[in-house]
Amino acid sequence: MDKTQLYPLRFEPIYQYRLWGGRRLASLLSAPLPGDGPIGEAWVLSDRTDHQSQVANGPLKGQTLGQVMEQFPEPLMGKLSSRFTRFPLLLKFLDAHEMLSVQVHPSDDSSELIPAGYTAKTEAWVVIDAEKGSQIYAGLKSGTTSGTLRKSLNEGTIADNLVSIVPKPGDAVFIPGGTVHTLGDDVVVFEVQQNSDTTFRLYEWGHIDSETKEPRALQVDEALACIEFGESNSGLVTPLVEATTPVERERLFDCHAFLLWRVVGQDRLKVGATAEPRVLVGIEGSGQLMHDGTPYAVGKGDVWLLPAGAGECAFQPSEGVTLLEIAIP
Ligand SMILES: [Zn+2]
Repeated sequence: MDKTQLYPLRFEPIYQYRLWGGRRLASLLSAPLPGDGPIGEAWVLSDRTDHQSQVANGPLKGQTLGQVMEQFPEPLMGKLSSRFTRFPLLLKFLDAHEMLSVQVHPSDDSSELIPAGYTAKTEAWVVIDAEKGSQIYAGLKSGTTSGTLRKSLNEGTIADNLVSIVPKPGDAVFIPGGTVHTLGDDVVVFEVQQNSDTTFRLYEWGHIDSETKEPRALQVDEALACIEFGESNSGLVTPLVEATTPVERERLFDCHAFLLWRVVGQDRLKVGATAEPRVLVGIEGSGQLMHDGTPYAVGKGDVWLLPAGAGECAFQPSEGVTLLEIAIP
């Protein structure tokens, strides 16, 4: 293969067994769900050592994202190639059948809590599906202090201190590092996050680990130390409409780690950008991405990495389509 040219890359999802998960990802992603146990996460783009996404199409099929980053730094990352040796974002679909632990990831402000080699983590969710009783918690109610939070943890009333959101499909929720958050009771979300694995758990809702028969370990002191108390821009986001023709384009997230747009429509549109990589995620409907005269089919749950070298590409919906497009600032 030509060392200077790359083509749009599709990746196989990596399914993760989770006690709090369900089976809803079966109707969202085309790759079949393994076994019949609860699947909580599908990692759809991951450049983590322990879980590497594999290319599913073309001459690079079977190679990992890490290998492609190493062999094609410039064609893949363009003007960002000198800044990143690992792909800086981790993308997932989550199926939270039960409530996840109440948790927090560090921000850059609490760097002393981040183990060497790890980074802070800002993340964000786009709600795909929710039930009547589904719940998202993102951020603390105003006036909450470290003292009141510790007291409510001891009394099992932490939910009273959290900003609660009743999720509905299409909602966008921003969770900067330092924000207390959780979700569950049958909500499915797409998650974009910094490529990091540092989580401190505050509360487990009384859940018992089925293997150890003990409550799961918490890291309350570390969590309290990295929570950002006071004003925050966490929580439900009001989308910013950037264009209404030929399709509707809304910006949902714009932070130091990622930008994310939602594109909805049925007319031919443009995706990708000159000299920088973009990620496309099929949420609803289908269509074809055109690159170098070749069509690439994009369906529900599909994740495509558009290499920087591909530049701007045409996308032809075959019906009404909803896509997410993600950029690295
Ligand atoms: Zn999280």
